[in-house]
Amino acid sequence: MPTLPRFDHYIAGASVPPSSGEYLPTEDPYSGEVWAEVARGNAADAEKAVEAASRAFESGPWPAMTPSERGRLLWRLADVITANAERLAVIEQRDNGKLAVEVTAQVRYMADYFRYYAGLADKVQSSVIPTDKKGVFAYTKYEAKGVVAIITPWNSPLTLTSWKLAPALAAGCTAVVKPSEFTSGSMVEFAKLFAEAGFPPGVVNVVTGLGPEVGEALVLHPKVPHIGFTGGTAAGKKIYEMAARHLKTVTLELGGKSPNIVFDDADLDQAVKGVVSGIFAASGQSCQAGSRLLVQESIHDRFIDKLLAFMKDVKLGDPKAPDTQVGPIATRPQFEKVMGYIEIAKKEGARVVLGGKSRPDLGAGQFVEPTILTGVRNDMRIAQEEVFGPVLSVIPFRDEADALRIGNDTVFGLAAAVWTKDLKRAMLMTDKLKAGTVWVNNYRATSFTSPFGGYKESGIGRESGTETIKEYLDTKCVWMSS
Ligand code: NAD
Repeated sequence: MPTLPRFDHYIAGASVPPSSGEYLPTEDPYSGEVWAEVARGNAADAEKAVEAASRAFESGPWPAMTPSERGRLLWRLADVITANAERLAVIEQRDNGKLAVEVTAQVRYMADYFRYYAGLADKVQSSVIPTDKKGVFAYTKYEAKGVVAIITPWNSPLTLTSWKLAPALAAGCTAVVKPSEFTSGSMVEFAKLFAEAGFPPGVVNVVTGLGPEVGEALVLHPKVPHIGFTGGTAAGKKIYEMAARHLKTVTLELGGKSPNIVFDDADLDQAVKGVVSGIFAASGQSCQAGSRLLVQESIHDRFIDKLLAFMKDVKLGDPKAPDTQVGPIATRPQFEKVMGYIEIAKKEGARVVLGGKSRPDLGAGQFVEPTILTGVRNDMRIAQEEVFGPVLSVIPFRDEADALRIGNDTVFGLAAAVWTKDLKRAMLMTDKLKAGTVWVNNYRATSFTSPFGGYKESGIGRESGTETIKEYLDTKCVWMSS
């Protein structure tokens, strides 16, 4: 039997096998084949990685570098990413089954994240503070927090890691990354590229394995002062509780149930495209998915007809094929979860007007048809809980006040969108929607330039943009007198 590719931990600049000797299988979500094995880490492996990151933070070339020197390394890394983008994308695509074009574009775009923070590394300025004390002056100084633990999910592994790693490194921190057990390969290979860009060993380390076995060990480790986590709200709350016990800081990017609100004065053809990409891109496996379509009563039936017409010839299939529009669900448990939610919705009284079934005839059968449910009330589970799949719940509303009431009636607050040509209406909605991102007449725009994060149970802290670097810095106030 041919041996499978193996992804070991990457610690202090070298591949390190798991101390348990055990590996986890990694499946290709389209074919269902086990195509690789990933080291099953444990607390001992987490310890080795944190020690390596801590050594790199305290001694050697990394702490001696000026911010400009760190910036130059990050810039070089961006070029190395571009040179290796295709190879990394192939691994990541195999792991999570996203459309190949989508993953390739995401990995290429990652280079720009590192360039942005390369430029920012030497632009974090502190201040001299005029005080009320005579003969003494005070100034602030920003200092890197230390070893950062970065824990990420399977839907966009490298992108979501970069959102944390680029500002953390620009700030002068070192890192231990724990990727999802389902999609670790691309991160392990990415970590090896840091040496090529000139980073000292130990600045970026990877330990792979399960959340409770290796993720918790990182969160609880006394030498880790900050945790950057993206994942589900349940795991996020657990991590927050563990971090709180030791007063560690966190950035948490969690789930969503975002409302996509279409008014009767909107450009309906434009809105249809935004609603479709909002929920069906990445087969709905996206934190910012616009999973609740709030549509004004007066255009409800017309808009649904337009949506159905737009979705008529949508092509499901092999995510590597260039004409495929909807790929498989990334993992078997997630597939079961999405199908389970469609059944729950039907029992709650929702009506399936598109899809609603799995597709056992495609690949290994891990496909859910793009599904549109009408007759949904906002108090149903299908409207309140994150499905993380290609399932759109349609809820009618009367006017702005009704749209705001329904839109904000959720424990989440990651994103929202409004489709209207009325500027006054757009301004009212953007003011009153409780979400970290609000789009007007578009959906999904995100960039390294602009903060992203959640209100309420969608998270704590922001990623991207200039402010994010402060998540990785402590502020010291120095009082000087002669
Ligand atoms: P998950 O919470 O199951 O796992 C995420 C990561 O946390 C994995 O690496 C996992 O091993 C680890 N983990 C799990 N339990 C842990 C624990 N007790 N201690 C430490 N680590 C632990 O999430 P998932 O299923 O991989 O990803 C899907 C979720 O991610 C969705 O809820 C989605 O909304 C969210 N997400 C959020 C954003 C955002 O920016 N807000 C982006 C993408 C995905």
